[in-house]
Formats: sequence, structure tokens, C-alpha cells
Amino acid sequence: MGIYEALGVPTLVNCAGTYTIVGGSKMSAGSLEAIRQAAESHVKIAQLQEKVHEKIAELTQNEAAIVTAGAIVGIYLSAASCISLKYKKAFKLLRKEEIARSEIIMFRAHRNAYDRGVELTGAHLVEVGYPNNINMISEEEFENAFTEHTAGVIYLPSTDGGWVPPGALEIQKTIATCKKHSVPIIIDAAAQLPPKSNLWSFTKNMGATAVVFSGGKYLHGPQTTGLVLGEKRLIEWMWQNSFPNYGIGRMHKVGREELAGIYTAVKEYVALDEEATDRAAEKIVALFVDRFSGGGRFYFQRTYPNEAGQPMARAKMYLTDPGLTAKQVQAKLENLPRAIFTIVENGHIYINPMMMTEEEADYVAGVLAQINSEV
Ligand SMILES: *Cc1c(COP(=O)(O)O)cnc(C)c1O
Repeated sequence: MGIYEALGVPTLVNCAGTYTIVGGSKMSAGSLEAIRQAAESHVKIAQLQEKVHEKIAELTQNEAAIVTAGAIVGIYLSAASCISLKYKKAFKLLRKEEIARSEIIMFRAHRNAYDRGVELTGAHLVEVGYPNNINMISEEEFENAFTEHTAGVIYLPSTDGGWVPPGALEIQKTIATCKKHSVPIIIDAAAQLPPKSNLWSFTKNMGATAVVFSGGKYLHGPQTTGLVLGEKRLIEWMWQNSFPNYGIGRMHKVGREELAGIYTAVKEYVALDEEATDRAAEKIVALFVDRFSGGGRFYFQRTYPNEAGQPMARAKMYLTDPGLTAKQVQAKLENLPRAIFTIVENGHIYINPMMMTEEEADYVAGVLAQINSEV
């Protein structure tokens, strides 16, 4: 009997993508084996961190790297380390007033549930601009937000079709302004893989100080990991402020199992054939579009990019039966003995193929075909 069966927790066919609420992604056999081996022996964690961080930096073409307990801790520790960098002091040695008067700037359009990580530092979060395109912020207005207390800027890259509203200054202009003021800029790109070039494009190509990724989304690493990649001067402070150094990151420790798992996941991800994964995703999307083109209670259309702005297609369900809602279809799918998990966005079910196998796609299409022909 499997662990989930023993616990009485139903497993799900994931048609939603890399949603954290259902566990993000699945680890590869290689990552799981690395975790098993890591768990079997003791090592000095600082030594393991040094090697893993060095190798991840190399694999992702960055100067430095650090593994954190999820992307949100990456945001928290990088924001805190912007203040360390400003005062040249470990976070635990900073005076409360020094932290409280420090300012981290964000565009209002970029505020989101994960920036709690910035507020947790105790620094002042300064908002600029509006989350719409009526009065787009100018470089001059952005620059006006900089003071002697500015410690850093957190930026969410806008992605075509993603959930980030307009209202921020363009990324290159933002980075240029930060450079002019010698203020570090951190990019929250937690869900911005694929494309894998994002591992280095924000830092090496565009000049951002650091970029944050979730390890448990499309990287297929352990769900509790995140990566911060970029300049050594910031990432060194992050390590100083973390486990095993009794900094504020001590409460967000990353174990040797996760270090081994994420290292293996990054190694596999940079070697991934992106064209092949795109083809596999398109094949699943086409299956739904083609199979439900002959009438019934709903049909599908291909949409691109997906909800996070990732360059991958999804199949969007259009209901033609006025007596059927997306929520009803969702409930039917979830109540099956082999449950199917979907997300409803603005009244539409989407099939996101990122975490689906062909076998699962056939199963879901078969179930939907039954619902489609019910009267
Ligand atoms: C998912 C996500 C996070 C959090 O990632 P975790 O690894 O789950 O902590 C942060 N920011 C954005 C934009 C995300 O999409």
C-alpha cells in the first residue's frame, strides 16, 4: 500500500500546472536517488553548501548561487541582505532603527501575496506607480522614490499574458536606474521557468543584482527549495544571514537532502531539450482541441502563453451548455475515484499540460468525453 493510500489522502491527476497547492511538480528519479544518498551519510553542511552553490552558479552561468527554503525565503533573505549590504553588517547585528528606516521599493503593479517576505524583514516597503496603464510611471518618478535609506528594489518581470498587471517601469530602465544609484535590484522570477535562459538572462544579460526562482515549480526540485542567483556581494550576505550561521535564515534551514535534490534538478533542467517538452505539451493541448470539436456541451481552444506567462500552451474550455458551469465540471472531475485537479480562471477550466503524461491526458479526455455527451 502506498503512503497516500495508507493515510487516506486521494492522489490527483494534475491538469493545473506547477501549482504549489498540489505540490508544484514531481521530482525525477535522479533527484530522488540523490536525496536518498544524501540522507544516508553525515557531511559538514557548510562544505556541502559551498560545493552545491558553486556548481549551481556554474550551471546557471551566474557569479554566485544560494539554495533557500522556497522562493519566498529567497525574497525574504535577499531583501534582508540588501540591508546587510548597505550597512556592511550581518542582519543580526543591525540595530532595529537601521532596519526600520531602510526602504525597499516595489512597483504597486508588482505587489503580491509573496512579497510578505519583504515586509517580514522589518524594512519599509515603498510603493511606486499604479497597477494599471492610465498613467505609466516615468524614470523620473521612479527615481524620485530613491532616498538615502533605499536598500533595494524588488521587481516582477512582466510576462506576456501573465497575471502581473501593467504599471511598472520597463525592466531595463529599472535596472539602469538602480545601477545609477548603486542600489541592488532583485528579480522575483519564481515561476518564470521555462524558458531556461531565464536562469541567466535577468542577471548576466540584463544586469540585475540577483534573481529568485522556485525550486519546486518547473525546476522539478524539492518543493521546499528556492534559488537565488546573481552577484556574489549580495549572495555572500545571504549565506551569512542563513543556516548554519545562526542568522535570521536559521529558521528556514535547507537540509542536505534538499541540497542534493535541487542540485540534481538544476543539472537535469539545464540539459533539458526544451523543444521536445514543448512538442509534448502541444500534443496534449491538440488532443483536447481535436477531440472536442464535434459539438456537445463544451469545446476547447489553444491559448498561449499560460497563466504565469510561461511560453507554453494550454487548452481552454468553452461551455456551450447554459446548464453547465466550469465549477460543476471541476467538482465532477475532483469527485472521481481517480481524481482530476483543475483550476478555474474567470469562469473557464484550463488544461495545463506541464505536469501531465500522455496516459493522464488520455484518461482526462475520456472522462471529459463522458461529461460532454451527458444530457
Ligand atoms: C510561486 C511564487 C513564489 C513562491 O515560491 P515558493 O518556492 O513556493 O516559495 C514567489 N513569487 C512568485 C511570483 C511565485 O509565482
